[in-house]
Amino acid sequence: MSGNQLLKDIPSVDKLLGSGELKPVLSAHGHTRVRETIRDLLGQLRNDILNGQSNTVPSLQALSDEINVRIANQNHGTLTSVINLTGTVLHTNLGRAVLPDNALSAMTKVAGANSNLEFDIEAGQRGDRDAHIEALLTELTGAEAVTVVNNNAAAVLLSLNTLAAGKEVCISRGELVEIGGSFRIPEVMEKSQCRLREVGATNRTHLKDYKRAISDHTGMLLKVHTSNYEIRGFTQEVSYEEVAALASETELPFMADLGSGTLVNLEQFGLAHEPTVQDVLAAGTDIVTFSGDKLLGGPQAGIIAGKKKYIEAIKKNPLKRALRVDKMTITALTEVLKLYLEPETLAHKLPTLRHLSRNADDIQAIANQLLPHLAEAINRSATVKVVETHSQIGSGALPLDQLPSFAIAMTPHEDSDAALQTLSSAFRNLPVPVIGRLADGTMLLDCRTLDDPNQFIRQLESLALT
Ligand SMILES: *Cc1c(COP(=O)(O)O)cnc(C)c1O
Repeated sequence: MSGNQLLKDIPSVDKLLGSGELKPVLSAHGHTRVRETIRDLLGQLRNDILNGQSNTVPSLQALSDEINVRIANQNHGTLTSVINLTGTVLHTNLGRAVLPDNALSAMTKVAGANSNLEFDIEAGQRGDRDAHIEALLTELTGAEAVTVVNNNAAAVLLSLNTLAAGKEVCISRGELVEIGGSFRIPEVMEKSQCRLREVGATNRTHLKDYKRAISDHTGMLLKVHTSNYEIRGFTQEVSYEEVAALASETELPFMADLGSGTLVNLEQFGLAHEPTVQDVLAAGTDIVTFSGDKLLGGPQAGIIAGKKKYIEAIKKNPLKRALRVDKMTITALTEVLKLYLEPETLAHKLPTLRHLSRNADDIQAIANQLLPHLAEAINRSATVKVVETHSQIGSGALPLDQLPSFAIAMTPHEDSDAALQTLSSAFRNLPVPVIGRLADGTMLLDCRTLDDPNQFIRQLESLALT
């Protein structure tokens, strides 16, 4: 059939709209949305015919089906849940901490109704949004006062700007870190309108170096957790206690950016020792900043804890208004902090600590449960077995600490990068995408963070290895 004749056979938008097949979708989504979808589809069809890529006009039924599919697909947002089996528990690209159930239900309640976000119900007056978290956080950290902002980067920026704008901030050369590309201490310093005063050497910094750097221009002493790297060998760092004593002698504020920051002793979960927020404050630090969604296991947030006079100044900074958290974050953070009041059940209820503290035998049992199902699903294209592996915490927490774990290892029979890519893309294309780790020609699914093996097994039916 000639192209011209085909073009004439394309039904009109109105004909499709009135075809009856689209009645349900019209009543669910309205005329505007459906008409736009039809226009797009018919426009594409017209182009395909003109380019010779199509030589038939689909039936009304087929076109209506396609419109239904397109509208259903458009309704999927781009942000969706995935199953993180990379072995990195707090994976920044995969949304970091998974929130506990109590946080989810509280968020639903607060989001779907008005709330006392900035209202004191008892007094019938305007309240402070920080009040909801402050009591819990001061109790847990021992700080005099606390405030919360959008993330830890914002916490550092706001604190520096409030306490040391126009002045020098002394920091060890070994702590001028870059975290995840966009957070670099020298650049944050500049944006906070502070001047960086480097102290000591990359591998060794002494108390006398700080002393020598302090002058009339100094506004703050700062220590930054090196998070994602470690200097080993001939090293020397000045303790929180020593810097705090010097700060108090010289009447300067002393701030510590802990990055991940933990409220519990991680050794009880078999992890390396890491000073807690409480420890660092007890050492005499005036201000401590840390993330809500790293080791704390909560929502994205930046927590600033410390001396009341400094926190009050920080809360008055107009930047605070621009960096403040919303009611969802406050709700989630409150619920997560409540779990910390009950240490006996914390590691069971809080997903981040549950994943980090899971013992290798339990992880192996999950891997063994998955093995026959995966073998059946991909036997023809890859060998499948359970292997020992190591997971890591992620998000710059204890970067060298490796947690013994077990994974399903899948190695394509065909030893090529393309075969490995096909395999990993098949898992990414599952209804709930599964993200693993590729290493040495093998795809690993670390079972440490798998919460629902049955959901995982059920969706293997949809695995398409083409
Ligand atoms: C992660 C980190 C930050 C940034 O925290 P976000 O919550 O991601 O903004 C800042 N400082 C240190 C030391 C960190 O580890």
